[in-house]
Amino acid sequence: MSKKTKLTPMMEQYLGIKEQYPDAFLFYRLGDFYEMFYEDAINASQILEITLTSRNRNAEDPVPMAGIPYHSAQGYIDILIEQGYKVAICEQVEDPKTTKGMVKREVVRLITPGTVMESKGLDSKDNNYLTAIVFDAPTRLFGFAYVDLSTGELKVSTLEDEDSVLNECSSLQTKEMVLGSDLPESLQKKLTDRLNILFSEQKDSEENTETNFLAEHVKDGLQKTVLGRLLAYLSVTQKRSLGHLQKAESYEPAHFLKLDHYSKFNLELSQSIRSGKKQGTLLWLLDETKTAMGGRLLKNWLDRPLIQLSQIKERQTIVDSLMRAYFERLDLQECLKNVYDLERLAGRIAFGTVNGRDLLQLKQSLQQVPRIRQLIEGINQGEWQKLLLDLDPVNDVVDLIDSAIDEEAPVTITEGNVIKEGFDPQLDEYHDAMRNGKRWLAEMERQEREETGIKKLKIGFNRVFGYYIEVTKSYLDQIPENRYERKQTLANAERFVTPALKEKERLILEAEEKSQELEYLLFQQVRDEIKQAIVRLQKLAKALSAIDVLQSFAAVSEKYQYVRPEMIPQGKELVLIEGRHPVVEKVLGHQQYVPNSVTMKKDTTILLITGPNMSGKSTYMRQLALTVIMAQIGCFVPAQSAKMPIFDQIFTRIGASDDLISGQSTFMVEMMEANEALRHATPQSLILFDEIGRGTATYDGMALAEAIIEFIHRNVKAKTLFSTHYHELTQLEETLEGLRNIHVGAVEKDGEVVFLHKMMEGPADKSYGIHVAKLAGLPVELLERASTILAALEAAEPAALSKNKAEKEAQDKEGTEGQLSLFSEVSTEELSVIDSLKKVNLLEMTPLEALNLLHSLQ
Ligand code: ADP
Repeated sequence: MSKKTKLTPMMEQYLGIKEQYPDAFLFYRLGDFYEMFYEDAINASQILEITLTSRNRNAEDPVPMAGIPYHSAQGYIDILIEQGYKVAICEQVEDPKTTKGMVKREVVRLITPGTVMESKGLDSKDNNYLTAIVFDAPTRLFGFAYVDLSTGELKVSTLEDEDSVLNECSSLQTKEMVLGSDLPESLQKKLTDRLNILFSEQKDSEENTETNFLAEHVKDGLQKTVLGRLLAYLSVTQKRSLGHLQKAESYEPAHFLKLDHYSKFNLELSQSIRSGKKQGTLLWLLDETKTAMGGRLLKNWLDRPLIQLSQIKERQTIVDSLMRAYFERLDLQECLKNVYDLERLAGRIAFGTVNGRDLLQLKQSLQQVPRIRQLIEGINQGEWQKLLLDLDPVNDVVDLIDSAIDEEAPVTITEGNVIKEGFDPQLDEYHDAMRNGKRWLAEMERQEREETGIKKLKIGFNRVFGYYIEVTKSYLDQIPENRYERKQTLANAERFVTPALKEKERLILEAEEKSQELEYLLFQQVRDEIKQAIVRLQKLAKALSAIDVLQSFAAVSEKYQYVRPEMIPQGKELVLIEGRHPVVEKVLGHQQYVPNSVTMKKDTTILLITGPNMSGKSTYMRQLALTVIMAQIGCFVPAQSAKMPIFDQIFTRIGASDDLISGQSTFMVEMMEANEALRHATPQSLILFDEIGRGTATYDGMALAEAIIEFIHRNVKAKTLFSTHYHELTQLEETLEGLRNIHVGAVEKDGEVVFLHKMMEGPADKSYGIHVAKLAGLPVELLERASTILAALEAAEPAALSKNKAEKEAQDKEGTEGQLSLFSEVSTEELSVIDSLKKVNLLEMTPLEALNLLHSLQ
């Protein structure tokens, strides 16, 4: 390469290193700057809006170059990481003063979106997860692992299908995934379509001791492999101790309430559909946590509601006890406010990036523990025992920090003032020498003034010349020429040194330098000693975060008057008296919200909800879903009383995504979501279908809706709320014994139809449309005609739906006839359409096939 032959040794070194990090911005340390060259420089100058220059401007082919000051690098790194890039930090690893020729440089860390530790962009209440995946072709299973490098959390699981992987990734909101060449393309596409995710390849390495240690409790081979892949990537990128990583914990998604990604999205658990933000979500409502750790744990709990009665009850009992102990709870909140992010502090201790201030924060946090223990013992109930056991105040660490770290310690750890007086005798001696030296200088200044008679003579210090005696020009004739040596001339003064001053300066500066070195050393020793306590600190952090979330539940439950739900593990009865949608209630205000009961007896499978648009149907459904989730994370629920089964899964098809996706794809999404529910729901599941079938032509829609209802009733048997504007469907109540009609009530008030948002028994009255038209002042004659047409239509509707069961079964056998009568006066063309529809086995079709079929029928 002709270019290469002309390269300077430095550029040779640069290119050699860059070659190993082709997919990262290489920050190459040069003095006080990180420099980037070639493509990196061009791209970075655009992304970061920094100046693009070139290294050898006059050469034939100048090298593009862009640099950023070393001390302000973090902000630039944050921007690149935020946008999904990687940054390789390349430092000088030899002291330039003591090396001849090129200084050796190495990449000391590769920062990636999934491994960022100290970015300002890292929201303290969010985790930052790096995930890894392994696909095992023979079993078609996925090994899946994730880590939060800043907190040390490490988990692993086996997932059964692509959708489960997608579900996990979307609830973890992972920004980066480590994979090998084994990932099925279909899954990779699904992941990139739905999530903003960076894929990083990692070759599987030989087993290493660190992996073996961290995977100690993991028995499964596939899980071990994926952990190996994840940890190999960490060691390639981080190049330093990962001593704070917790032992991998194997988890089973089936041990939690399953919510697919559609439902999490639709129900706005932690992300609002419109803004993508936390505001207006269930998480936003429930979050009265006082610590960042508590905030993160709350989100984890919300992602994984429980399905075991004992675990739910344990949380409920603690919340209950906290609600009774009002004053203790307030004190507890005050203590928690003084607790810093122990998990991330522990991470920084292990990483070696803590400073004196961090240790002071650690001390302050730990000092809260005895009081927290005391408060909890005061409200003690059996359920608290487990948490109390983990509330270790880690006194040895408190004592160590207390004796070692100065209360005023600065953020830097290399410039002294970090270590407390009395911690180390040698350091105290240096400090003494520094202090004595200063006293001696003051004394010298006094003597010199006396001897020379120059009152304004003073002793000063600057970094270039050290200590000096300064005399203004007008007194120059009074200085003792033989002792004073001229050092520097200023506009109106001269600066001098004397041999005695030089000697003292040497002692003072030496003491200062040595004390700084020693302080740094001592600080590292303290840090290493605290490192030994990391596992205890992490255990404590876990207990404190759980306490924080539970007090948050208590606070919210009290604020909004929630009640403790009675949970029936295998039950089928659901009685929610005067329930409310917690978020809508918060936004509208308690007074404005109309409470609604949901009662489903053991043998009620489906509630069919009719009512016009904007009457509150979907709010009612969401209300139920959120109540179930709140109950199963251990919180109290917005109702007067609640008795509910423990659900294993929730499926939703609620009209929220309508405004995001338009046209045909709305219907596609609708069918995909329906498919998900119909295939996977069990009798212990909850299904919420809002206006299924709305996205297509009326007959299509109605036929599909009815078929879906029947299928649920006959095969799935999950508790289902089904809202519809196909009034015809209400007649299903006569044939399906597990189906009940309810509707949204309305009254006429001051000449207007007002929807009360109140659910009532039975089907909705169909004539709202005409009623509204009347109010709008349409001619009486026209209204009368409309009423006549309506009556005629109703009379001409001998629908299959309205017939009794026996008749219906007979019709089913006859094939298309029975269904046909639903729509009076059908053409043969329509007949064949319905025939085809009847033959369709929905469960055997892919959504695309369904769509294609509908298209051809249309
Ligand atoms: P639908 O699904 O029937 O079209 P929505 O559930 O979207 O209706 O509700 C329409 C509006 O009515 C929403 O903006 C909501 O704020 C309000 N609303 C719904 N239910 C209630 C209620 N129980 N109390 C007060 N306002 C409600």
